[in-house]
Amino acid sequence: MSSSGSGKPNLSGIGMTSQRTRERLLGRLIDQGISSMEVLDVIRSTPRHIFLDEALSHRAYEDVALPIGHNQTISQPYVVAKMTEALLKSGPIDSVLEIGTGCGYQAAVMAQLAKTVSTVERIKPLLDRAKKNLKLLKLRNINYRHGDGSAGWANNGPYDAIITTAAPQQVPRELFEQLKDGGRLVIPVGGDDQQELQLITRRGKDFTAEVLEAVRFVPLLVGQLHH
Ligand code: SAH
Repeated sequence: MSSSGSGKPNLSGIGMTSQRTRERLLGRLIDQGISSMEVLDVIRSTPRHIFLDEALSHRAYEDVALPIGHNQTISQPYVVAKMTEALLKSGPIDSVLEIGTGCGYQAAVMAQLAKTVSTVERIKPLLDRAKKNLKLLKLRNINYRHGDGSAGWANNGPYDAIITTAAPQQVPRELFEQLKDGGRLVIPVGGDDQQELQLITRRGKDFTAEVLEAVRFVPLLVGQLHH
């Protein structure tokens, strides 16, 4: 986590994490076709550097995925923006489920655009770190669960939106079931090297899938880890 010297993380950022480098990132997202003002505004105001280890925080506003330990990554800002925009297209969202909390960056973005976020992470130290980061940002509309999210989180559902930030080979059946009528699921599907980002929309008992683009996420794994 980046610090201001007093031991406390600096939310506004200094040097390479300054407002100017953030504006440069925004320009890049717009150039790549992100057009939702609400998504762009939230990305502009969310400090990504606090989600990274100090040694990497100077790269926080580059449009790349970066390591967060435990063989996992923080998602690329463009992909966060693209997935969030896809979920919001049909109107405001009350409830959203995220599978794969990681360091909590995508959850921070969603928590500012939905009423409640429920997020599941299988690696305990990552979930603990995410809680700390999101508390620091004073985001309190988030429910956390340590566990295997490959079967969703039925108790809090059904959801207006589900976002999966790790890739299964096939969409788990439970995720379809936990979508509300009219709800949307955005999920990378496929093998290790590359996946297709799918947007699935529920209409009653029917589900339509649209392929958004090629992406690369870590795999959705089964089971939970305590260390
Ligand atoms: N949402 C994060 C990206 C995290 S990377 C961000 O905002 O940057 C994907 C995360 O999914 C990893 O932390 C990984 O541990 C987690 N994951 C993989 N399989 C999972 C499963 N079955 N249940 C819950 N989390 C899982």
